[in-house]
Amino acid sequence: DTKAIQKLDSAHYLHPFTDFKDLNEKGARVMVKGDGIYLWDSEGKKVLDGMSGLWCVNVGYGRSSISEAVYQQMEVLPFYNSFFNTTNVPAVQLAAKLVEISPPQFNHVFFTGSGSEGNDTNLRMVRRYWDLLGYTDRHVIISRHNAYHGSTVAGASLGGMGGMHAQGGLPIPGIEHIGQPNYFEAGRGKTEAEFGIEAASWLEQKILEVGPEKVAAFIGEPVQGAGGVIIPPATYWPEIQRICDKYGILLIADEVICGFGRLGTWFGSELMGIKPDLMTFAKGVTSGYIPLGGVMVGDRVANVLIEKGGDFNHGFTYSGHPVACAAALENIRILQDEKIVEKVATETGPYLKQQFATLATHPLVGFADSCGLVAGLNLVKEKAELVHNCVLFDAEQNVGMICRGYMFGNGMIMRAVGDRMIIAPPLCISVQQIDEMIGLIRSCLDKTLAD
Ligand code: PLP
Repeated sequence: DTKAIQKLDSAHYLHPFTDFKDLNEKGARVMVKGDGIYLWDSEGKKVLDGMSGLWCVNVGYGRSSISEAVYQQMEVLPFYNSFFNTTNVPAVQLAAKLVEISPPQFNHVFFTGSGSEGNDTNLRMVRRYWDLLGYTDRHVIISRHNAYHGSTVAGASLGGMGGMHAQGGLPIPGIEHIGQPNYFEAGRGKTEAEFGIEAASWLEQKILEVGPEKVAAFIGEPVQGAGGVIIPPATYWPEIQRICDKYGILLIADEVICGFGRLGTWFGSELMGIKPDLMTFAKGVTSGYIPLGGVMVGDRVANVLIEKGGDFNHGFTYSGHPVACAAALENIRILQDEKIVEKVATETGPYLKQQFATLATHPLVGFADSCGLVAGLNLVKEKAELVHNCVLFDAEQNVGMICRGYMFGNGMIMRAVGDRMIIAPPLCISVQQIDEMIGLIRSCLDKTLAD
């Protein structure tokens, strides 16, 4: 009974990232079932999940082999911790599997329960690394405006979302932000390649402003996700790598969205041609079936932590949770056996790119781009041949949210970040289903235009 659930929901459940008053008035949509790339709500309506839940259900819904792996592990050992020199078999097997699929500099992993906890771990780990080397002043971490690195105090501070900083007095000290490589918003008068170099130079400027001897690390998502699917120009990340190398600064790739195949490579940093020292992961590691996150720790950092010794006073009850690790092992087996990552690289990713380009001709779309199976388009009031000459809607018009509402009504979940409409469908999507998705998006753009 939808009404009864909604009533209970608004009576007792405070949802994340939600206007509680608004939700109480409208009532939540109740999702009850998933299969493949589709979801069903409590009214029996079927929707195409263009966001993979929250960018995480990479292998799609309804994989009974993951449920089976979880059930089996729960029967044998539902929990044990990995504090104080203890371990469990699935966590060890998963650590080895993650090392196998990660770039060669990664031979160690630190498990957490989420991506936010992974980024908290990064913050403490890079500071400990520099402390162990005797550089106790080298604690500043540079991040980017509009980045999303989680909701814990350190995660939200590392993130660059103004709305999050405004609540709770963030960021905490020792974190600095630079601009994001958003060509549509900031690249006027430059080619994409020129803009990529310029956006990377903001890092060098910030390093010099803070003092290179104080900067511990730079953190960034290979493709910024929640900030609006900001796909950087190809010149951006190699230049960021060059700058980090020049000043000896650690490079952290937040792979919580890009990891596990989203861009057609196991990790987004591989596509961007960089060699991070640390990589945060979560979401796609279990396809969201069970919470799990962590940090891949590269040799540069791991060797110091191990050789210098001493406790790392950090960890979570659910670090290396055996049931979550069993789910991850089965999820990775599916990704490997069904060659899903390769398909994103050679089949579904290129097909989405081609189809998304056809949406760019729509009168409401000023700019559209994609990378693997993540894509975004900007809704504009007036198109122009040169993207920077497009006329934007007034923010108060909430055109993105209006379009998102049509999508929902029309049987598709698409997210709005201001007037940028974004998608990240399950990686198991077929080319026929991409056609269906593009058709749904086009008809919603038509409705939004007509409105
Ligand atoms: N980092 C990135 C890039 C994310 O997109 C997210 C979540 O969306 C996080 C970190 C936080 O992960 P979690 O919600 O699992 O704490």
